[in-house]
Amino acid sequence: MLPQAPLQPLNLPWLAASGVSVAILRLDLIDPLISGNKWFKLSHHLAAARKTGADGVISLGGAHSNHLHALAAAGQRFGFPTVGLLRGHPVETPTVLDLQAFGMELHWLGYAGYRARHDANFWTPWRERYPQLFPIPEGGGGREGALGCAEIVRQACDQRAGIGWDDYDGWWLACGTGTTLAGLVLAESRPRKVYGAMAVPTGHGVAENVTAIVGADAHARYELLDASRGGFGKIDASLLAFIETSESQSGVPFEPLYTGKALLALQQTVEAGRFANGTRLVFVHTGGLQGKRASGALKRYR
Ligand SMILES: *Cc1c(COP(=O)(O)O)cnc(C)c1O
Repeated sequence: MLPQAPLQPLNLPWLAASGVSVAILRLDLIDPLISGNKWFKLSHHLAAARKTGADGVISLGGAHSNHLHALAAAGQRFGFPTVGLLRGHPVETPTVLDLQAFGMELHWLGYAGYRARHDANFWTPWRERYPQLFPIPEGGGGREGALGCAEIVRQACDQRAGIGWDDYDGWWLACGTGTTLAGLVLAESRPRKVYGAMAVPTGHGVAENVTAIVGADAHARYELLDASRGGFGKIDASLLAFIETSESQSGVPFEPLYTGKALLALQQTVEAGRFANGTRLVFVHTGGLQGKRASGALKRYR
């Protein structure tokens, strides 16, 4: 059911100078609408929804949510109803307009209402209102979400010979909740290390979420780094300049919340000499380019 993401050599001068080889797994290219890691994270949730006989799904996210965007597009494509519970008050972002166009039914929870999403009785009224819909956690997370990401490992393994690699040493990817990283750790059968460049600062629950999924004895198989540059969604001029340069050098588009910060953290780590000459890493392009259209925040820095 999941399309193949192309694995491509990532050509950047600072990688060439360090002797570190990076291939980029382009999850952003798997589909024009249902793109990025969210598609992989959704696959097991949607299978679980089908198994319970649900008619459709209900989930939650913000007004730029890549998760709700993928979910709404999947609902339209495959013909099942979707309901989205949104953080904050009604705004018409490009993402929200798409959600509506895809036929997702939206409810705005305000900020306090959204913060209550982890409360024990949060889902009760929604389950009563929509008994035929299967609830999917924020961001398509949890163990089900991670299990869907095993496919990411398989796709990279299947294609490594095509770029002249007999093997690779590890993974580099952006983390929000760490669910995708957890999925890679679960799926890797050999001691390849998974490096997670966190889009949120240390101490915001990523480590706990990963441990809850992979278990405490897997600690040596991954490493989390703070790539947030002061906070989730914080964008600064040097980040934007780095993204612009990287896009023109590599021909790959990046966005500033996840993939751009992950690439910048990789550059800093490579230039700090952490990877030996000859190291081969797979960088997961987790997508998110649809969120880039809300460029008001970007223009302020241009
Ligand atoms: C959601 C998202 C992530 C974070 O994925 P997690 O599984 O929550 O760590 C990374 N990159 C992009 C583009 C995303 O949309």
